[in-house]
Amino acid sequence: MIRIDDKHFETFITHDEILKEVNALGATLTQDYSGKEVVFVVVLNGAFMFASDLMKSTDLPCDITFVKVSSYEGMETTNKITESIGLSMDISGKHVVLIEDIVDTGNTVGYLKDLLEKLDPASVEICSLLFKPEAYKGSSEIKYVGFSIPDAFVVGYGLDYNGKGRNLNTIYQFKN
Ligand code: 5GP
Repeated sequence: MIRIDDKHFETFITHDEILKEVNALGATLTQDYSGKEVVFVVVLNGAFMFASDLMKSTDLPCDITFVKVSSYEGMETTNKITESIGLSMDISGKHVVLIEDIVDTGNTVGYLKDLLEKLDPASVEICSLLFKPEAYKGSSEIKYVGFSIPDAFVVGYGLDYNGKGRNLNTIYQFKN
């Protein structure tokens, strides 16, 4: 059990479990994208740690770029997406894998997928470490998912609560 500000969180997914799953995702991507030109588009801030481990688990020739959006304040989604760093790379003709830390309502990935598809890529797929199926309201397929989890707030391994906890190497779930 850990405490961040006023909230308590308990261990949910250990670092070993995370790495095992990330390596499995890396192996699947390596197979699926063999012979293709891949660009990983990473959604900041939360996905930086996942993206780093995922990149190391594939030997695909690939490039990486970052976008920054936010829709959460504290533990609530605001349903409004703020874009603060846009895409700086030409992705036309490239196979894009959008890397997310967590898909909750799906607003963020839905918004980004639409935006990327307008830029003439060869394909766009979504790869998210965590997925909350009960909260999902989107229509895009989340093709690559590490863990499907219940609709409860989590922190650690890149994910924050009030700007804290991103550096934790375990994923914790809100308790009280
Ligand atoms: P969506 O747009 O799918 O509702 O939410 C996606 C974004 O909300 C994620 O990229 C993440 O930043 C944030 N988010 C959603 N659920 C959680 C959660 O359980 N914990 C944390 N820390 N952030 C979350």
